[in-house]
Amino acid sequence: MIPVRDDLRQLDGYHSPQVDVRVRLNTNESPLPPPDAFRDALASEISRIEWHRYPDRQATELRHAIADWHGVSADMVFAANGSNEVLQTILLTFAGAGRRVATFEPTYQMHAQIARVVGSEVVEGERDADFTLDPAEMRRVVEQHDPHVAFLTSPNNPTGLVEPAERITELLELANGLVVADEAYAQFADWSALSLLDEDRPLVVTRTFSKTWSMAGVRLGYVIGPTWFIRELDKVVLPYHLDAAKQIAGRLALRYVGDMDERVRLIVSERERLSAAMSALPIDVTPSGANFVLFRPTTVGGRELWQRLLDRSILVRDCSGWPRLADCLRVTVGTPDENDAFIHGLQEVLT
Ligand code: PMP
Repeated sequence: MIPVRDDLRQLDGYHSPQVDVRVRLNTNESPLPPPDAFRDALASEISRIEWHRYPDRQATELRHAIADWHGVSADMVFAANGSNEVLQTILLTFAGAGRRVATFEPTYQMHAQIARVVGSEVVEGERDADFTLDPAEMRRVVEQHDPHVAFLTSPNNPTGLVEPAERITELLELANGLVVADEAYAQFADWSALSLLDEDRPLVVTRTFSKTWSMAGVRLGYVIGPTWFIRELDKVVLPYHLDAAKQIAGRLALRYVGDMDERVRLIVSERERLSAAMSALPIDVTPSGANFVLFRPTTVGGRELWQRLLDRSILVRDCSGWPRLADCLRVTVGTPDENDAFIHGLQEVLT
């Protein structure tokens, strides 16, 4: 066996077990597919791809479509294979070996994971017991470590909490480095850091097609930020990283904004129904602005509840063994029928 890099030896991979179940509510996907008209338009355009040619390296039409939708210029947009690859490209460009990356835990595990893989040191801030972030803790992390990149996730995963705008502006005032607002779930929430973007401010906002756009299978995400920031990413990313079919899929999806908004409305109203039903049981529920809800049963252990739901063929995310999340589980909002099955399962186990 050939030894891996010393700093990778201790690293665990990212795990999200997939089990064959009747009701799968563990990975924050959309429970509904994109509209048929999108599939038809996609099939027709894909049939005309020149497969022997490399795709448009700049993904020009896709970037313009994303930019138009957000009302920004195309040179403020960079797209890659899922927002995970966007995050990786940002960290390769602005972090990397010898640099520091700040996260405020608990949060999306891939921020720290990718930072370590690219050779950066991860400096962790701690959220309060209710998962909100104390500005004094942000100040401590920045003053002690002067991070080159700092992440805030809003709504946060796995907690679902929306970060108030003040936290992001405070972090921008404190930090010397880049501030990344990971907004994978922003369309389920009532505000976005996009409103804070400015050419002279080191703030960037990442988004994904995996959730609201019902396109987790496509692997497409993007970042919007100042033009100087986007130019640097374009130097680092591999040539032709976005294949031709994906560029078409992303561009066409944006023609169905109305369908997307309708799905988001349904999921938000189902989220509120789920949260209310859980609150009527012996469960602590974290308020969510996303398409999932973090919860903690108070009369049984989290792991036990997870197993007893699984016995009923209902799979949720088991966060109970994660640091700072003892006994916590996370449920993705599903279709009304799936949510009924989940609530019913909870009632059977807990009452
Ligand atoms: N950011 C957050 C906060 C997430 O929860 C996820 C998906 N779990 C991602 C980024 C990555 O999304 P994708 O790579 O599918 O775009």
